[in-house]
Amino acid sequence: MSALDKYAFLQTSIEYLKGVGPERAAILKTEANIHTFGDLLKLFPYRYIDRTQFYSTQHIDNSNTFIQLKGKIKEMREIGEGRGKRLSAIFYDQDGEVELVWFKGIKWIKEGIRPNEIYVLFGKPAWFNGRYNIAHPELELLSNYTSEALGSFKALYNTSEKMKNKGLDSKGIAKLIITLLSQLKPENIHENIPEYVLKHYHLISRFEAYKQIHIPQNIDDQNNATKRLKFEELFFIQLNLLKNKVIRKKEKGILFEKIDTYFNNFYNNNLPFDLTNAQKRVLKEIRKDTLSGLQMNRLLQGDVGSGKTIIALLSMLMAFDNNYQAALMAPTEILAQQHFQNIQEVLNGMDVKIELLTGSTKTKQRKIILEQLKNGELNGIIGTHALIEDQVVFKNLGLAVVDEQHRFGVEQRAKLWKKNTIAPHILVMTATPIPRTLAMTLYGDLDVSVIDELPPGRKSIKTVHRYESHRIAVFDFMRDEIKKGRQIYIVYPLIAESEKLDLIDLTNGYESICRAFPMPGYHVSIVHGKMKPDDKNFEMERFVKGITQIMVATTVIEVGVNVPNASVMIIENADRFGLSQLHQLRGRVGRGAEQSFCILMTDFKLSSDAKIRINTMVDTNDGFKIAEVDLKLRGPGNIEGTQQSGTLDLRIANLATDGIILEEARKVAMNILEQDENLELPEHCPLKVFIQQKRQYNWSNIS
Ligand code: ADP
Ligand code: MG
Repeated sequence: MSALDKYAFLQTSIEYLKGVGPERAAILKTEANIHTFGDLLKLFPYRYIDRTQFYSTQHIDNSNTFIQLKGKIKEMREIGEGRGKRLSAIFYDQDGEVELVWFKGIKWIKEGIRPNEIYVLFGKPAWFNGRYNIAHPELELLSNYTSEALGSFKALYNTSEKMKNKGLDSKGIAKLIITLLSQLKPENIHENIPEYVLKHYHLISRFEAYKQIHIPQNIDDQNNATKRLKFEELFFIQLNLLKNKVIRKKEKGILFEKIDTYFNNFYNNNLPFDLTNAQKRVLKEIRKDTLSGLQMNRLLQGDVGSGKTIIALLSMLMAFDNNYQAALMAPTEILAQQHFQNIQEVLNGMDVKIELLTGSTKTKQRKIILEQLKNGELNGIIGTHALIEDQVVFKNLGLAVVDEQHRFGVEQRAKLWKKNTIAPHILVMTATPIPRTLAMTLYGDLDVSVIDELPPGRKSIKTVHRYESHRIAVFDFMRDEIKKGRQIYIVYPLIAESEKLDLIDLTNGYESICRAFPMPGYHVSIVHGKMKPDDKNFEMERFVKGITQIMVATTVIEVGVNVPNASVMIIENADRFGLSQLHQLRGRVGRGAEQSFCILMTDFKLSSDAKIRINTMVDTNDGFKIAEVDLKLRGPGNIEGTQQSGTLDLRIANLATDGIILEEARKVAMNILEQDENLELPEHCPLKVFIQQKRQYNWSNIS
C-alpha cells in the first residue's frame, strides 16, 4: 500500500462499509454529515455506561455521572397527589442510603420491586432539596444480572429519529463502528503529533485513541482516549492561529510617525474628560503598534460604558496626523449615526472632514462621498457594513476600527485588509467580554487590550427581578423616575423564529404603556427593526433629545446607543434573552451620574437555566463573570460571535471545561513555532503533512 492508499481507507465512501449500503449511507450523509469511513470514526460517543465496577453509596457526589450500586430497597411510599404524585424508596448498602424517585409508571414499579432482594442499580444521582436522589434508576435483580451487562463499558451515540428508523440508533451505530474498527490498521491513522510531545504529556497514539474512544475497556482507557483527542483538536486550532499570527506579524505596517496637531489639539482642547488609566494604557499600546512598522491587529475588550469610542477617535486622529484616512465601522445604522453625531460634536471646530455612509445614504450623496474618499478629500468615514463593499475605495486607508466585533465575521475583517496596498491597522472593539479560554481560541491571532476600569463616578446599576404580578408597582416606580427627569427603556425580545408573535407583543406592550403613561404628561417612542430607517431615526432622535421619556424597543438598541439621561432599563420576558444580551442591554443605562436601575420582568414559571441567568444578572455587574456563566450554560458554540468564525467547530473538546488542556496545547504550539516556524524539522513533519491533508480534505468537502 502506498501512503496515499493508506490514507484513502478513511476516505472510502461510507456506503461500502459492511452493514451500511446505499439507503443507510444516504441517511448518514444527510442526518449526521457522515460521508466516509473517517467521518464515522469521528462520530464520538456523547457518554458511556460504565458497568465495569460497583460503587457504594459513599461514592455518590456531584460529578453528575452515572453510577452502579449494589444493595436493597426499603420504605417504598407514594407521595403527593395528582400530577405531582411520585413514588419514593430508599436504596441502601453497607455504607449508607440514597433516595430513589419515580414520577411515572408508579403502580408497575411498586408492584415489581421485591424488598429484601439484592438489586443492581444504575442511575445518575442529583442533588435535590438538600440531599441526593436518583430518579428513574435502572434496576435489575442481582440474580438476573447477566454477565454480558456486568463488566461492560459501553459507548452511547446521539442519533436522529430518521436514523433510528433505519436501525441506526445508538446500538446500530456502535455496531457499524465496531465493524469499521475491526478493519482499521495502525497505518490508516497517521500520527499527527510529534513523538516527543506525546511522551511529555503522556498522550496515547492517535490510532489507540480512535479505538479506545469507541470501545474502551474501562474508565482509564476512556480518559486517555478523550484527553488525547481533545489535545489534538485544541492543539491544531492553536497551531493554525499562532501560525497566522506569526505570518501577520510579518505583515508590513503603515508607520504613524508623528503625533501632531489633530491629536494634540483635540487632546488638549476638545477632550471632554480625563482618560481613565485603562484608557491611557490602551492608547499607549495602540501607539506602540502603529510605530512598530508592522501591521496592528488588536482586539480591544471593554465592558459596556468603559469608553471605547474615545479610543477609536484618538486612534483615528493619529492616522489623520500622518496623512492617512481612517474608517470606523459599526454593526447597525443607528449606532453608526450616533458615532457620527457624537464624533462631529466633540471634534467641534476642528478641521477634520468625516462623512457618514450607510445603506440609507442617498445615491447622490453616496456618489460624492465615494469620490471624496477616493481623492482624499475626506479624512475619515463612519458607517456600517456598507464600508467594506468593493465600491468603497480609499486614497490611503491607514486605520480601520470595527466596533462591536461580535456582529462582524472574520471574513469581513479580512476584507478591510485589502482596502489599501499596505494592510491598514485594524482595531476591533468588543463589549462582549470573552472568557480567557474562548479568547485564546477565537482570537489567538489578535493582540488583546482590555479596558478594565469604568470612568469615575459611575454608580453600579441596581438590578432586580420582578414578576408580571408586580407590574403596577413597576409602573409607579417608572412614574417616580420620570418625575425626577429620567428616561426609561423598555425592551421586548424579537427573534426571527417567532417574529410575528413578538411584534404583536411589542405593539401590545407599547399600547399599554401609552395608556398607562398618557399624553400630554408623557411621551413614548417606539423603535424596532421593521420600521423604515427614517421613522426609526425620528423616534430615536426624540428620545435622545429628551422629548420622549419612554423608549419601547426591541434589541435594536442593544449595541452602543448612548443616552446618559436614561437611567432605567426594563427588560420584558427577560428569561428569553441570553446572558450576554441581557448584560449588553443593561449597559445602555448607568451612563450618567444618577443611580440607574435594571428591572428584569418575567412570568412566574422559569426554566432552571433562566433562573441562573436572571440570578447572575441580579448578583453581578461584572461582564467577565457573566461571560463565564454564559459559557458554562450555553457552551462556546452559542456564544455570540463564535458561530461565523468556524474555528469553534469542536467535536470533542469543550472550552468551558477543558481550559487546562487548552493551555497545554497552546504552549506546545507556541514552543514548536518558536523553534521551527515553517515546521521543517524532521520531527515536525507529521504536523506539516496533517495540516496539508486537512486543507485538501476540507477543500474536497466543499467542492
Ligand atoms: P463603550 O465602551 O460602551 O463604547 P462609550 O465609548 O460609549 O462606551 O462611553 C460611554 C460613556 O462614557 C460616554 O458617554 C463617554 O463619553 C463616557 N466616557 C468615556 N470615557 C470617559 C472618561 N474617561 N471619563 C468620563 N466619561 C467617559
Ligand atoms: Mg460602544
